[in-house]
Amino acid sequence: MKSFNQLTSTMPSSGIRKIMSLSENVEDCIHLEVGQPDYRTPEHILDAVSQAAHDGFTKYTNSAGILELREAIAKKVTEKNGYAINPMNIVVSPGAVCSMFTTLLTLADAGDEVMLPDPGWPNYTMQMSCIGTQAVYYPLDRDSGFQINFDILEERVTPKTKAIVINTPGNPTGAVFPREAMEKAVAFAKKHDIYLISDEIYEDIIFDGSHTSAGLFDDDGRVVTIYGFSKSYAAMGLRVGYAVCDEKIARILTKVQEPIVSCASSISQKACVAALNGPQEPVREMTRGYNERRDAVIGILKKHGLHRYSPSGAFYILIDISRAGMNSTDFAVGLLKDRKVAVAPGETFGATSESFIRVSFAIDIEKLKEGVDILCERINSG
Ligand code: PMP
Repeated sequence: MKSFNQLTSTMPSSGIRKIMSLSENVEDCIHLEVGQPDYRTPEHILDAVSQAAHDGFTKYTNSAGILELREAIAKKVTEKNGYAINPMNIVVSPGAVCSMFTTLLTLADAGDEVMLPDPGWPNYTMQMSCIGTQAVYYPLDRDSGFQINFDILEERVTPKTKAIVINTPGNPTGAVFPREAMEKAVAFAKKHDIYLISDEIYEDIIFDGSHTSAGLFDDDGRVVTIYGFSKSYAAMGLRVGYAVCDEKIARILTKVQEPIVSCASSISQKACVAALNGPQEPVREMTRGYNERRDAVIGILKKHGLHRYSPSGAFYILIDISRAGMNSTDFAVGLLKDRKVAVAPGETFGATSESFIRVSFAIDIEKLKEGVDILCERINSG
């Protein structure tokens, strides 16, 4: 038989999946590799899901999303993120992962270069390999807790660069970029006449300082900001994310999305209206929970002499395993086999985090503490 699309073999697969599938057969495993909130979706959102279903709200919707949701998003972005937009600037998708993919499809041609953070979310690379776009990585600065080094951006940008992706709060680093860095990132994009794609899906999970959207500094329509419901509302399975951008880009995003997914789930879109218009206390409560867990992890790292930086947002930390003297995948596999603790190997996120592993706080605090203690002992025993 003829071969499959080349992509099936060239697309990198995620190292987290590898650990997850190995851990399926490990009884009483402590899961520190997971990338999704452990909290229950707030009740009023679940009620809206069932209400929409019982109302028979089960038809296709406008490809860009129902107007009611885009109006609620426009209000949220204008009031909370601080820059005025209207529903024509919004495209709702089945998850931020889809918003990211359609944005890349819209902005970049095969052969173009797109700058990606290292360490960064592996799906960016995987998506770009579908389009044939060249990833050019810019290492984040370990010494400052994985902030952007603008000198390195200047070194890596070329005439072929079409866009840069930034992510704050960051996965896997937990780094939050301050307001000045966001302003500088937009200025960098403008200087080189490239697009800026700002992945802000963790915007609500902030422990220190505050979140600043790149859109705030966009004065000529070159920023596409990606937000979502999965992390803020612990509503991953609703599969709703959205891109906020210039109207012209939004129209093309909508067109590009149509043949791939038609639209986001109608029922989920109704639930997201309830999420935005309803009480926000559950979001704050979950964030307080992650904050408490982060502090507990930092305390344990300090006790073992392994504290390098404190993440200011999201629910991840990168932990330095260089003392163990092995690569991060071997370390993660060994830790799982011998001590029943699953972690995400840093090399999955890029060369900069090869000697790190990622721990997620999306797990019960007692289990988290137990797992991190075991992990630290292992690192120090080499
Ligand atoms: N961006 C980042 C950095 C993520 O970590 C994730 C989910 N893990 C997403 C986007 C996508 O989220 P979703 O598709 O669930 O909205």
